[in-house]
Amino acid sequence: MADKVLVTGGAGYIGSHACKALARAGFIPVTYDNFCTGWREAVKFGCCEEGDLLDRAQLDEVFARHNPVAVMHFAALSQVGEAMAAPGKYWRGNVCASLNLIEATVAAGVRDFVFSSTCATYGDHDGVVLDETTPQLPLNAYGASKRAIEDMLRDFGAASGLRSVIFRYFNVAGADPDSEVGEFHQPETHLIPLILDAIDGKRPALTIHGTDYPTQDGTCIRDYVHVMDLVDAHVLGLGWLRKGEALPRGGTEVFCLGTGNGFSVREVVNHSRHVTNRPVPMQDGPRRAGDAVKLVSGSEKAGRVLGWRPDRSTLPLMIADAWRWHQTGHYSG
Ligand code: UDP
Repeated sequence: MADKVLVTGGAGYIGSHACKALARAGFIPVTYDNFCTGWREAVKFGCCEEGDLLDRAQLDEVFARHNPVAVMHFAALSQVGEAMAAPGKYWRGNVCASLNLIEATVAAGVRDFVFSSTCATYGDHDGVVLDETTPQLPLNAYGASKRAIEDMLRDFGAASGLRSVIFRYFNVAGADPDSEVGEFHQPETHLIPLILDAIDGKRPALTIHGTDYPTQDGTCIRDYVHVMDLVDAHVLGLGWLRKGEALPRGGTEVFCLGTGNGFSVREVVNHSRHVTNRPVPMQDGPRRAGDAVKLVSGSEKAGRVLGWRPDRSTLPLMIADAWRWHQTGHYSG
């Protein structure tokens, strides 16, 4: 029987794509999800366990029944605006929940842990390319909660021997090219799905959050990475952890996942117009609280150590895959 991997948040956008990649790589993904933001229809690969990370007894029971060889931890609250307004929700929902999960992982004797962190842990570093060595100065409770979980993994590694790979994501975009799974948030806050909604009339217009930033065209710059490339990195990271000799017992290794190329909001809009061949209704709006001006990755390390190549992470391909999913594959809820 194939090895199982416990995937928290396997019903969410990135988690569901990771389950597909894990299944392709010969693992059985076991989704653990409370469905507060995930979709039952997104759990298409492996097994499904409905449960909350704050429920330690259920976590212990799921570990005992499935006996996973590793954990991939995607489940999280991830909206910057919400985190600014309700920080307690983020400290409890991300940090307390992850503490429970990490303690359950250690108690179950599972040694390998892959964690989805974020470039939001960096905060605003004027014009700097962000890599694994850049100081983390988060601007909001979302970034702060993810940084706290990174620290937690280091402490538990030292105490228990748990080994972890931490991936700091830049802006994840696109969808499964087969449209079996895709991006669908409710409410939607991410740029590319909102542009596609505006294009096909699901919302009146895209609002550009801030046009007076110190960038070439006044809009924020982000580094977009294709979700399929991102989840490939997770499978590579898992293989690297499981090889055993690469990372000592108790070790933690951080990898940034981006392409090193930054695109402004207006550039993303222009690419979307070209890919879909449709106009993008839009309006200028004020800055969104908590947004950094520019987040661009130096992700050379993931290539060097893991052999990761983000070949699909071009804006035309990410937008084309997202558009295909948008037109054919929405979950019904
Ligand atoms: N953005 C925007 N209008 C929107 C949503 C996003 O102008 O309706 C901008 C946002 O300010 C940021 C970029 O698009 O500069 C990417 O935002 P997103 O929410 O997709 O990801 P984030 O960078 O916040 O993780």
